[in-house]
Amino acid sequence: MAREHFDVAVVGAGMVGVCCAMWLQRSGKRVVVLDKNTPGNGTSYGNAGTYAPFGCVPINSPQLVKSLPGLLFSKSSPLNLDWAYAATHLPWMLSFLKNCAPDKVEHTTASLANILAHVDAGFDPLVSAAGAGDLVVSNGAIYVFGTEAAYEKAIPGIAAREQHGVAVEVLDADPIREMEPSLRMPIHKGMHFSDARHVLNPKGLIERLFKKFLSDGGSWRQREVGSVKASADIVEIDCNDADDLTCGQLVVAAGAHSKSIKGSGAEKLPLDCERGYHIVFKGAERKLSRVVGWQEYGFNATPMEGGLRIAGTVEIAGLQKPLNPERIDFLTDKAHRMFDGLGEPNEEWLGHRPTLPDSLPVISHSPRSERILLAFGHHHIGLTLGGITGRIIADLAEGRVPNFDISAYSAARFTR
Ligand SMILES: Cc1cc2nc3c(=O)[nH]c(=O)nc-3n(C[C@H](O)[C@H](O)[C@H](O)COP(=O)(O)OP(=O)(O)OC[C@H]3O[C@@H](n4cnc5c(N)ncnc54)[C@H](O)[C@@H]3O)c2cc1C
Repeated sequence: MAREHFDVAVVGAGMVGVCCAMWLQRSGKRVVVLDKNTPGNGTSYGNAGTYAPFGCVPINSPQLVKSLPGLLFSKSSPLNLDWAYAATHLPWMLSFLKNCAPDKVEHTTASLANILAHVDAGFDPLVSAAGAGDLVVSNGAIYVFGTEAAYEKAIPGIAAREQHGVAVEVLDADPIREMEPSLRMPIHKGMHFSDARHVLNPKGLIERLFKKFLSDGGSWRQREVGSVKASADIVEIDCNDADDLTCGQLVVAAGAHSKSIKGSGAEKLPLDCERGYHIVFKGAERKLSRVVGWQEYGFNATPMEGGLRIAGTVEIAGLQKPLNPERIDFLTDKAHRMFDGLGEPNEEWLGHRPTLPDSLPVISHSPRSERILLAFGHHHIGLTLGGITGRIIADLAEGRVPNFDISAYSAARFTR
């Protein structure tokens, strides 16, 4: 039987894959999306919903190295490390720490600021085409420091943001409490990002985008992609036990699982994951009017459709381990310190942020073949970067040069 053929196949129907599919379709391609699950059920399901053009300061930093002993051994730390996992993934750990050197951090910050300056041009046209503007709230975000010590540690990051043109205003406690009167935790100061937005339902947004993609003639097959083989003319896609496909170009946008697609070139890259958690308090969304992050504890509280979502923290423990109940207790405890009268959470969730050790995404041709494009590694800001990633991928697929320098996101930085 002849195999189905498409101009482009996109593997992964998360925020990144769906945005790639839409931008490729807009440049006239016949596109199929392949995902082992239904759209928007991976990491993109459970994020904090913060559209964060301000997110150029990476987790890697000289301060992280200095604070590491405290972070690793304190019960109230936003970072949790599975030592057995770390021992078997030492090269990634060491590379991540190497990228905490000041010159590396400067490069990452500048490269993130470079792409973040273009995010609206990737996100807004898709949201508007999908009629999903009602799911996006423009009301800024506040990241709070409970103590002077926490604020002091953040000063270099604030300066870096200012240097890269990010709109950030440092506020004292009183104006923050006026803006968000339900906050109960101690507040020393906060950063106000006036051009931040938030999404009321990240999965709902992806579903709307995907509906538009399908109604404009896009195709969808629920398949798990095992391996791919690029030749001079086509890419053959092995869909494990289901019918195989072929395509002219392939986009790997399978988030933290991208390495599992053999033959794509992704398997050679140092992709790992930073696990993150969320809990939801149903009916408590009115406690906030915008995203509020609590910096010391590494999470955001976001008012969403039907509930207040508390999402964040970092756990290094890989893709296989089940949800760690201690992380849920951590978030629940901090949420109760942040607000009165929340009760018990109604939902618990674990997700896997796809992360390269330099905290930059890979958005480029694969070192394996010009027919394969890679779009993953968006770590803490994939909801924000999905749209612009799709736009870059559509440019690369067409042989167009994007209108800003994308060399920092090339997979070749790991294979040279
Ligand atoms: C707790 C938490 C909070 C966050 N908060 C924010 C935030 O506020 N703002 C922000 O911008 N970002 C945030 N992020 C980051 C953001 O959610 C991720 O960067 C983003 O979701 C990554 O999207 P993706 O499309 O690459 O991956 P995913 O959403 O994981 O999608 C990948 C898809 O690939 C599919 N797949 C995997 N392997 C295969 C295969 N072999 N064959 C077929 N399909 C396959 C999966 O089923 C999945 O649907 C947060 C993340 C976490 C964990």
